[in-house]
Amino acid sequence: MGRPKTLRATLPGLGRTLRLVWPYTRRHRPLLGGAFAALFASVALRALEPWPLKLIFDQVLVPEHAATGGFLGGLSPMALLGLAALAIVAIAVGRAWMNYLNRVGFALVGNRVLTDVRGDLYRHLQCLSLSFHSRTRAGDLVIRVIADIGMLQDVVVTALMPLVGSVLILVLMGALLLTLNVPLALLVLATLPLFLLPTTRLTKRIHQASRDQRRREGAMASTASESIHAIRVVQALALEERFAETFGGANRKSLKEGVKTKRLSARLEGFVQALTGLATALVLGYGVLLVLRGTLTPGDLLVFLSYLKAMFKPMQAFAKYTGRLAKAAAAGERVADLFERQPEVTDAPHAQPAPPLRGHVAFESVTFGYEPEQPVLRDVSLTVRPGQRVALVGPSGHGKSTLLSLLSRLYDVTDGAVRLDGHDVRNLTLASLRGQVAVVLQDNLLFAASIRDNIAYGAPDATEADIEWAARLANAHDFIVAMPEGYDTTVSERGVTLSAGQRQRLAIARAAVRQTPLLLLDEPTTGLDEDNERAVVDALDRLAQGRTTFLVTHDLRHAERCDLILYLRDGRIAEAGSHAELMAKAGRYARLYRLESTDFAQAPSLETA
Ligand code: ADP
Repeated sequence: MGRPKTLRATLPGLGRTLRLVWPYTRRHRPLLGGAFAALFASVALRALEPWPLKLIFDQVLVPEHAATGGFLGGLSPMALLGLAALAIVAIAVGRAWMNYLNRVGFALVGNRVLTDVRGDLYRHLQCLSLSFHSRTRAGDLVIRVIADIGMLQDVVVTALMPLVGSVLILVLMGALLLTLNVPLALLVLATLPLFLLPTTRLTKRIHQASRDQRRREGAMASTASESIHAIRVVQALALEERFAETFGGANRKSLKEGVKTKRLSARLEGFVQALTGLATALVLGYGVLLVLRGTLTPGDLLVFLSYLKAMFKPMQAFAKYTGRLAKAAAAGERVADLFERQPEVTDAPHAQPAPPLRGHVAFESVTFGYEPEQPVLRDVSLTVRPGQRVALVGPSGHGKSTLLSLLSRLYDVTDGAVRLDGHDVRNLTLASLRGQVAVVLQDNLLFAASIRDNIAYGAPDATEADIEWAARLANAHDFIVAMPEGYDTTVSERGVTLSAGQRQRLAIARAAVRQTPLLLLDEPTTGLDEDNERAVVDALDRLAQGRTTFLVTHDLRHAERCDLILYLRDGRIAEAGSHAELMAKAGRYARLYRLESTDFAQAPSLETA
């Protein structure tokens, strides 16, 4: 990029964007070919445009320049005038048609292609690993999928295609000028480098400003979506002003960059216009000299000037479209960046679909860290038989949730292996593995859809009866039917219209409808009031029947009822065994249990089925 000479070098993002988009045009090649044919025809007609004028000038107005003979030689001046007029109309109509066809063709291709790109981008985004999503701001991703693609869609049609046409015109006109009169053509070509310097310099600056603006808009969208997402916290902590300030600052900077792009584009357009005038004056001066000397006819000069104008048009078009193209290039780069991200957790080439699993789980010397040099789990080994209930307890931040996430392969182990029914999870296809794992978290997201759909997200082919069975199991059926529209009631976004306990029971129903051999529960009762907790624990007990269940909990009354308790500390299993065994051992678990039971004595008992 040291010597920006070509369009691609000046706008590096554009080349990348085109390489990204090109394969998508495959299905639309016939249409694209047609649009290009119409474009060529339009350019050719543009080249014909000045010829009727030349005819009138040289044969009718200044007949002493008339070439003798030729197929038009015998016609009367009036007949020639009529013919020229007819030709002007025919060319204009032809060009109008061709322009219409190429515009519509390119618009269709551009929109269809980018709609496909957007669909793929969205799919790609959802497949990217959690490690990527936990590092990336959601608002910025939304901007890439919606606004950046929209920008590309708009610019491909309104700027890129006209620019391609302009470049074609430039080349064709240059060649035609050379055939008309070599010295004059060379003079024209000599003026072209004049355009290069300001264009490349300004374009680079425009590109940089556009890129900054796009990035800033991504950040703004993130701020807006994060604060709206957490609006309860924002209002409760009276953070409105602070967020408004952050947003306002970015907004003003974006405005500044927007204005800067416009200012630079306008300057570029001005430069090009002034230079066009200069070049035209030079050609006109030299051309008139040639006409006076008799080496050129006035009609030739007319054609020449007309071509000259046509040639400078691409320059002007480039100046005019640079701002938009730069924005599109910046948007395209952001889209390409996202496409280049590869999911870290993917199906191995030899991956097989998992058979129906029984729920035997084994961790073999598993070491894992979100950052490889900082292990969160260290050399963890454990074996769980089908249907066993395992509690993971211990202080916060010591790897309990992380252990759960390795079971459904949200991350890959750094060392060792996680096996289900003896299969290393990395040898199973992701979809078949995750299809056999159900999860209930502390705070479960509901989608803006009916209650029925929210439950059925767990298993898309669940029948009405399955959904109701799951809801009953989850202690949710009664409150659902008490709602105005029962199972058809629409849950608002994130389920804020439901209580925490109700949301939790819907999440349990969603897990139940999946009928999976493995169940992962991550502090599912934290933050619930007593009644709700009782209903949720009761539902979870039923849900866990016959399934291998992992429960992360801080409430040792729930751990107590599990078959195996693992006490995690610093990413290692510090203690393992049944409640009785661990109490007999009188270690950390026993100490913690005794400490908690002083509190239990004051709270009502939670014994359930
Ligand atoms: P626990 O469930 O025992 O509270 P976690 O498994 O959630 O502990 O976390 C263990 C450690 O891993 C913590 O230090 C936490 O900060 C870190 N951690 C958890 N999730 C991520 C993540 N997505 N990216 C990076 N670090 C993480």
